[in-house]
Amino acid sequence: MASALTPLLQSRHIAHPLPGPRSRELQAVRDREVTSAFGSALPVFIDRAEGGILLDVDGNRIIDFASGIAVTSVGASNPFVQARVAAQLEQFTHTCFMVTEYEGFTEVCRWLNAHTPGTFDKRTALFSTGAEAVENAIKIARAATGRPNVLVFDEAYHGRSLLTMAMTAKVNPYKLGFGPFPEQIFRAPNAAPLRWPGGAENATVEALAAVETILADNGPETFAAMVIEPIQGEGGFLVPAPGFLAGLRAIADAHGIVFVMDEVQAGMGRTGTLFASEHDGVVADLMVTAKALGGGLPLAAVTGRTELMNAVHTGGLGGTYAGNPLACAAALGVFEALEDGTLLAHATTIESVVRARLEPLLDSVDVVAELRGRGAMLAIEFA
Ligand SMILES: *Cc1c(COP(=O)(O)O)cnc(C)c1O
Repeated sequence: MASALTPLLQSRHIAHPLPGPRSRELQAVRDREVTSAFGSALPVFIDRAEGGILLDVDGNRIIDFASGIAVTSVGASNPFVQARVAAQLEQFTHTCFMVTEYEGFTEVCRWLNAHTPGTFDKRTALFSTGAEAVENAIKIARAATGRPNVLVFDEAYHGRSLLTMAMTAKVNPYKLGFGPFPEQIFRAPNAAPLRWPGGAENATVEALAAVETILADNGPETFAAMVIEPIQGEGGFLVPAPGFLAGLRAIADAHGIVFVMDEVQAGMGRTGTLFASEHDGVVADLMVTAKALGGGLPLAAVTGRTELMNAVHTGGLGGTYAGNPLACAAALGVFEALEDGTLLAHATTIESVVRARLEPLLDSVDVVAELRGRGAMLAIEFA
């Protein structure tokens, strides 16, 4: 356990040029043994992680700006997460919730029901990965509506499983050579202000009109769900134009379409609020969470209106490892870490520090096209 180790200094320190000699040895083994289909951003092997720092096998301390790909929002090896996982490890690691139950699963569901936007009665289902949870949201929406079709958006990322690949926009690397895909997926433009052809100020109205056209062309009554990220993550931290999410909400209501918010990447405190959709004041029928939810252990959830969540026949949802006890314990640690609001405020502080430094570049450097995002989820675009 990390408590037996000396704390990792929260500073960058390069002892050997990256990748160091031990990382290069391990990389040679990796290249011999692991499929080349997995890329890696930095060919460096990690020995320990704590807070925002990764310690590699050559003694380098590097800053984890990737946050374990948007997972370690409460910091790597967070003490609340570690303590709960360690305790759970001593008790039991698995029973399968569909066979015999445990309280941690219920407690995670209770927290999500209480803290996700929307004052209506809710239920939650737990899964292991974001893609799995997004797929299950579609299963729930189809079961509840009896409709087949799903509306998604340009630049969307929803995962790598067959259905979520179809929902994901980018072909290379995610979809290349992996088709055919399910056909019931329709894609609408996303009101991303920077490159909207009709100008940023018209993005919301024109994008909503395009959505209405797609629905009208295919029959709005055939759409079970529309699925959108409140801030697109993999798409480039694209914040939707003001009013776009609210406009989609109104369209979904008008046609009885289940509005699914994919908060897998933007949720769980990263943008300075618990959920990114809170910035727009838009409440989803079903919300999908994962990534930072489990604080580094695989956990995902669908939370939403009871009448939708309970529309599926008993036994219709599940999974061997869905809501694994260790992952649930980790999530309860994440909730504890978020409880006093300090980390949410810190995400907002990160935004103001970064904006103060980078905003002047918009005027002074030609190739800086946009600075965007919310809280600690910020991007600078060069063009
Ligand atoms: C990462 C991600 C997913 C998929 O999650 P996995 O746990 O990798 O399956 C889905 N939606 C969004 C917005 C994501 O960022």
